[in-house]
Amino acid sequence: MDTKEFKITIERILKTNYGKSIDKAKDYEKYNALSKAVMGTIIDNWDKTAEVYAKGKQAYYLSAEFLMGRALGNNLMNLGIYDEVKKVLEELKININDIEEIEEDVGLGNGGLGRLAACFMDSSAATNIPLTGYGIRYSHGLFKQSFKEGFQIEQADNWLKYGDPWSIRCEDDAVIVEFGDEKVKAIPYDTPIIGYGTNNINKLRLFKAEPLQDFDFELFNSQEYTEAVKEKNKAEDISRVLYPNDSTVEGKMLRLKQQYFFVSAALKDLVRSFKKQHGNSFELFKDYHAIQLNDTHPVVAIPELMRILIDEEKLSYDKAWEITVATFSYTNHTILREALEEWDIELYKKIIPSVYKIVKEIDKRFIRILGQKKYSYEKINSMKIIYKGRIRMAWLAIHGTHATNGVAELHTDILKNQELKDWYELYPDRFLNKTNGITPRRWLAFCNKELSAFITELLGSDNWITDLSALKGLEKYIDDKVVLNKFLEIKQLKKEQLAVYINKNEKIEIDPNSLFDIQIKRLHEYKRQLLNAFGILDLYFRLKENPQIDIVPRTFIFGAKAAPGYLRAKGIIKFVNEIANLINNDAEINNKIKVVFVQNYRVSYGEKLFPAADISEQISTAGKEASGTGNMKFMLNGTPTIGTYDGANVEIVQEAGEENNFIFGARVEEIEKIKDTYSPKEYYETVTGLKRVVDTLIDGTFDDGDTGMFEELYNSLLEGASWHSPDNYFIFRDFADYRDAQNKVDKAYKDRLNWAKKCLMNIANAGKFSSDRTILEYAKEIWKVEAKQA
Ligand SMILES: *Cc1c(COP(=O)(O)O)cnc(C)c1O
Repeated sequence: MDTKEFKITIERILKTNYGKSIDKAKDYEKYNALSKAVMGTIIDNWDKTAEVYAKGKQAYYLSAEFLMGRALGNNLMNLGIYDEVKKVLEELKININDIEEIEEDVGLGNGGLGRLAACFMDSSAATNIPLTGYGIRYSHGLFKQSFKEGFQIEQADNWLKYGDPWSIRCEDDAVIVEFGDEKVKAIPYDTPIIGYGTNNINKLRLFKAEPLQDFDFELFNSQEYTEAVKEKNKAEDISRVLYPNDSTVEGKMLRLKQQYFFVSAALKDLVRSFKKQHGNSFELFKDYHAIQLNDTHPVVAIPELMRILIDEEKLSYDKAWEITVATFSYTNHTILREALEEWDIELYKKIIPSVYKIVKEIDKRFIRILGQKKYSYEKINSMKIIYKGRIRMAWLAIHGTHATNGVAELHTDILKNQELKDWYELYPDRFLNKTNGITPRRWLAFCNKELSAFITELLGSDNWITDLSALKGLEKYIDDKVVLNKFLEIKQLKKEQLAVYINKNEKIEIDPNSLFDIQIKRLHEYKRQLLNAFGILDLYFRLKENPQIDIVPRTFIFGAKAAPGYLRAKGIIKFVNEIANLINNDAEINNKIKVVFVQNYRVSYGEKLFPAADISEQISTAGKEASGTGNMKFMLNGTPTIGTYDGANVEIVQEAGEENNFIFGARVEEIEKIKDTYSPKEYYETVTGLKRVVDTLIDGTFDDGDTGMFEELYNSLLEGASWHSPDNYFIFRDFADYRDAQNKVDKAYKDRLNWAKKCLMNIANAGKFSSDRTILEYAKEIWKVEAKQA
């Protein structure tokens, strides 16, 4: 890098964009100028990558969510210029940390599903796999969260307030998306995905919705301002805001419009460039495209491609179907009932009538096939795509693609043997597992530079950053006291850094010498933040009874957003905040335990939390968490898991050793066995301490501001509700087991060197959980695309 020229570029951008010299510029202006300067340096490689990729088959990742987080620091690192730029900035009297911290997270996703898409983008670039992401450029990402008197407050996420230096608006590539009674423009915004250790730069293409014509001038001239603006607003509504639901579907018209909008735009984009290269030789389409559908949100792509091929390109139905099935593949992310997407046919008929016709035809032909196989009437009913006036998107996805994958071994097994058993029997070759992963760049090299440097020193190379299995080499230090102590020292440093950050953001002092026990993930009943809360309360009451109990001082840290309409989840947030209030202000407890619920948990907050954790809470009801990826981020940063046998936890302990983690609770088989006869009341009355903590929901210990939230939670556990049986996530069943496991954590933590060994064993065996491994599996086994170096 020519640092002198780089400096001049930054100064020039500041002057042309803001009319300011560097000493007068605001931090965000410096951030924008720096980012734009970096963009200038990568454009040639970006073009070259596209050129090289265009010669062969490419893969496309269609996802309604991309939870990208911040770009600047990570991009500088991936380009290998972080230290150089840091120095340049120092010469300009700018602290790089201030500039990094000013960046808004790109929060265009809810949680794990959107973050997985982001990790896949990073990994595809790093491994030179030709993968392009397609999605929606929401004007507002996931809401910003704060607490007021312990209640969650939501605020709009206006992430574009100061502009977005990392995207380029591609007006020339705009396409028109047609709904039944409306046409809108889809404008692509392209963001570079900079590969680590390669010149390749992949692309994330997000569409913004705009009206065909910006303004109705006639209306405007006759002073009918509102009418003129209305059409513009209606079109822009489509990409205005991300739905804040995680693992729950919302059958809203606007949501359907969003899905069709980005899917149709993506396919039109692909068909247009295909025709430019290959004319009308559509039999080649599948040889150039592999399209992955991230959950059912983009599954309307199946009938949409059929519609394009049949209605617009005049192919026969059979030819179109063959191309469609060969092109698409589908990832299932959940088996939660409330998350299985279905659409009312009336909505489809109204919004996308020509697509609906195709879905009906697909279903008709599918029923015929099942009839020929002599399937029973009941079985056909349970498998047909349209049933009782609703389109079952997961069924359409399995039938209309050549591959369906689960996201962890346990999850895929449950799909094959339980939830999708009939489908597995019909299409045994279509089902496969692709265990999720995380990018080692953001989740270790970038967010934990101190640990990364130490690992590189021990291994004598930094090649673990692109080959995470190399971490296995750390096992040889397992009895090396110097190494173990140094690891503990780094963990301590990361805890101190987090304590400073939390003090600044939450105005709470925490003790870096206490054990940091962290649960960060979306707030959901199945994730059981409530079990954690009950565990803390139980410990509190035990300490009150007997202050002599010898425990390692512990700081319980939570981070989670609740969907705004998910009242029970919001009740749990308030409950934890009440617990925090009680314990943190109880002088008798003398800071032996402390509880902090951090506000606005998001990717950039995660980058500070994961490296500082002593214990990782992964305590979902067995069978409910498809994979989890937060669990992997902790593991990679040397944090043992306290968790159930669920999702990828199973594989984590398989790799790192059960003795280096803390597994507890009912397994899937037991849950299956007891679920019909489960009586939480019996546990409530017999398990020591359980009643005491559960009753705090109703006995006046805490105040829910007369919302009735706590009583509702209490009833959900003991009475159930119209839609579920009491304690349907088996918190009472696992309460005592969880307490035992926590006691084991406490005991194990006291033996510092032995604890460090557990941490090191987790790091050394985290190789499997690199999303590089995951992406290469998709490329080889599903997409059949090959790495291409630009
Ligand atoms: C990794 C991540 C998640 C997923 O966490 P799980 O514990 O797997 O549910 C959610 N949100 C953010 C911000 C993340 O970085």
